[in-house]
Amino acid sequence: MEVITRVADLRNRLDKESSVGFVPTMGALHNGHKALIDRARAENRVVVVSIFVNPTQFLEGEDFSKYPRTFDKDREVCRLSGVDYIFLPDVDEVYFSDELSILAPKERGFTLEGFHRIGHFNGMLQIVLKLLNIVQPQNAYFGKKDAQQLALIQQMVKELFLRVNIVPVDIIRDRDGLALSSRNRYLSHSERDRALAIPKSLEIGSKLIMSGERSTSVIINRMLNALQELDIDYVEIVRRDFQNIESVEIGNSIILVAVRVGNTRLIDNMFV
Ligand code: AMP
Repeated sequence: MEVITRVADLRNRLDKESSVGFVPTMGALHNGHKALIDRARAENRVVVVSIFVNPTQFLEGEDFSKYPRTFDKDREVCRLSGVDYIFLPDVDEVYFSDELSILAPKERGFTLEGFHRIGHFNGMLQIVLKLLNIVQPQNAYFGKKDAQQLALIQQMVKELFLRVNIVPVDIIRDRDGLALSSRNRYLSHSERDRALAIPKSLEIGSKLIMSGERSTSVIINRMLNALQELDIDYVEIVRRDFQNIESVEIGNSIILVAVRVGNTRLIDNMFV
């Protein structure tokens, strides 16, 4: 395994490769990331993991400066998972002064996460487009954990005619149901206990659906009840294209939750 910091060096290594799997991350790797890496390892000859805490997708006042940076441990996770290249660029390697920018779609890019974190998806799409162009993988792996991010990346790939196959990977959870996230490490013990209301609320939602309930407002209200101890940003049920729906479409809907537990913002979802 090689750690590469320069775009030109990575391109040299990958120039003649026709089976490259790519996993973009912000590091602080956990088993959610590992699921993406394992899938990439199984499906490609060469596996590239990028580790880059992208400044442009953090808003003023968010956790950019204190975001966990655990490179030594991340390198070990990658090595043990059979990664070929870690791409670890500096900000100056990938960003330019007065550069052009890409904008998230006006509607789907500015609801839910895009509404609560205005501009976040512009920065996210900007870096993902850059990374996809640098690595030029055949397959790129993204977690369903960030469902709206995944949908916007799929939209970008389609509408900008990018030549890459986007592979969605299921959410990995802790044994108690909490979705793994690099931000979970900000939680105190008691905050973590309270955060378990998130997967519980999703379970309540999915059980209601399984028992025949289809009204999104009825389901959302029951979920809001289960989350009332937390500071809720939103609970929503949307179609997989992120259009609003009044009635759940089985096999084509997503239940989404975003809350704050203390100072930590957590998101989770369930595809139904
Ligand atoms: P991040 O490092 O948080 O930017 O995440 C990098 C990639 O890992 C994204 O595609 C995430 O959706 C994915 N990811 C993060 N947490 C999980 C999880 N618990 N299960 C599956 N994928 C995840």
